[in-house]
Amino acid sequence: MHEFNLIEAYFTWGDVPKHVKTSVGDDAAVLDIPPNTQLVTSVDTLISGVHFPKNTPPNAIGHKALAVNLSDLAAMGATPKWFTLALTLPEIDNVWLEGFSQGLKTLAQQHDCFLIGGDTTRGPLSITIQAMGLVGSDSAVLRSGAKVGDKIYITGTLGDAAYGLEHQNNKACKRRLDYPTPRIDASSLIKNHATSCIDISDGLLQDLSHVLNASSVGAQLDLSAIPLSKTLHGLELSEALKHALNGGDDYELLFTVPEGKKAPFEKKASKSGGVYFTCIGVITEQVNLIVDKKANQLNAKGYNHFHE
Ligand code: ADP
Ligand code: MG
Repeated sequence: MHEFNLIEAYFTWGDVPKHVKTSVGDDAAVLDIPPNTQLVTSVDTLISGVHFPKNTPPNAIGHKALAVNLSDLAAMGATPKWFTLALTLPEIDNVWLEGFSQGLKTLAQQHDCFLIGGDTTRGPLSITIQAMGLVGSDSAVLRSGAKVGDKIYITGTLGDAAYGLEHQNNKACKRRLDYPTPRIDASSLIKNHATSCIDISDGLLQDLSHVLNASSVGAQLDLSAIPLSKTLHGLELSEALKHALNGGDDYELLFTVPEGKKAPFEKKASKSGGVYFTCIGVITEQVNLIVDKKANQLNAKGYNHFHE
């Protein structure tokens, strides 16, 4: 199969939205950006054996490659609009390509995010997606806005994906690992109330510390408040917390809400249905120090690609 036929067969999805002037098939894509908005863009690479186990179904790989990028847009408060796909394949395997493109397309269509182009090369399996979204001018939610006294919230439950990686026979957790849910729905509520936000991809403590560094603040966490799934509730608490605090691949959002916006936020959140939110702590003064309720220091051991 020629590269051009491959793109035609698997990555040309029709129904081009009006704001896309040209997309797959020209030298580059041309997009209309509405006035008073800003373009938010993020890129992530998934490498076989590093970011997903080699036996991951192609449908899940397609889903996850886009999901991790949509999660970054959600963390900024942006609405997803477009993405590009740079795909490196060891060979042309039609069964694999069919599964991959289906997983990708299903999630893309769910969020009206349109594939506008890409690149296809031969080599060890690797997928790079660049996602683009829009926010109202100067309304993106940054990591740097947390203030002392702000409440710390997270979406969903933590630790399932890391548990699923270790226990691939646990179907529910394996599903959280393979099919993370980008919290796009929560994002619109968060952007109207939060002072800072980050998506949790490398473990709660690690990603929280990025917010603390950027905002020059610290945090106190109530470990008993950290939301756990049924599976993790069934484990010994220390084992469950190990996954919830330091496990990667959750793609939940962590954000801070000022005391004054707590009540309106919680009122809206309780009516929003679907995603649920839990307050797990408060922002404190001492820069980049994370403690529990008994003032024990908590240290991040998140995933680091270059750590020996
Ligand atoms: P060029 O040589 O001009 O870079 P390519 O042959 O790489 O063009 O790509 C041809 C067209 O197909 C371009 O519009 C490009 O964006 C698109 N394309 C290539 N690979 C992919 C892919 N994996 N997914 C979506 N679009 C792709
Ligand atoms: Mg090219």
